[in-house]
Amino acid sequence: MHTPSVITIDGPAGAGKSTLGALLAQQLGYLYFDTGVMYRALTLIALRRRLDLDDALALEQLARQIKIEVLEPSTPDGRQYTVCVDGEDVTWAIRAPEVNRAVSQVSRHPGVRTEMVRQQQDIGRRGNVVMVGRDIGTIVMPHAELKIYLEASLDERARRRAAEERKRGQETALEQIRADIARRDELDHHVMRPASDALILNSDDLSPDREVAWILERMPVVKQSPTKVSSHNTRV
Ligand code: C5P
Repeated sequence: MHTPSVITIDGPAGAGKSTLGALLAQQLGYLYFDTGVMYRALTLIALRRRLDLDDALALEQLARQIKIEVLEPSTPDGRQYTVCVDGEDVTWAIRAPEVNRAVSQVSRHPGVRTEMVRQQQDIGRRGNVVMVGRDIGTIVMPHAELKIYLEASLDERARRRAAEERKRGQETALEQIRADIARRDELDHHVMRPASDALILNSDDLSPDREVAWILERMPVVKQSPTKVSSHNTRV
């Protein structure tokens, strides 16, 4: 079986990209790289420094100054990886509600995106990577051989996010989470579209294991026949 060196997974917040990406990477022995953590880390530092989130230049400069690293998990506390900014472990801090609320405002600045994309491309070029985000198949790694666009309904995404937060001891009302995700969808809309050669997978009724199986089945044919499919009309 031909295994593409770079696999991209894009899609909206809460669609299950991280779980799927981590599982797929584990099965292939690839690096799993979640690009959302970079925008989150930048947002956290901008909030701490009380920067104006509309100040494109200040945010772009900050993006160039700080060193964001995604490393192997340093503590067995449920984390998929450890995120450090200038050496400080911010793995959980970047998941705080105030970061959720501000991150799309920070990531909409073109100068910020240029710097983030540059750093992500450096990682992508090394190969053997499953890279997850919004614009990976379209902008960051447009030549990737296998691109997945993961969709799920807003209700399902809100339920999953609430369950994740509960696991971390964070209790937010489902309605609030639903509203936050809907708002983020709107703000992220400008970068969120499937690449023309992406396989579209609807995760509403699929377990992560079945999603991985679905992807692995399609690997050899990916380059020849770009298709639009969903779990509802595909047997897995
Ligand atoms: O994936 P996650 O929800 O952690 O991403 C946080 C935010 O980072 C998104 O809502 C979006 O604003 C931004 N983002 C982006 N491009 C990416 C990944 C994330 O703009 N490739």
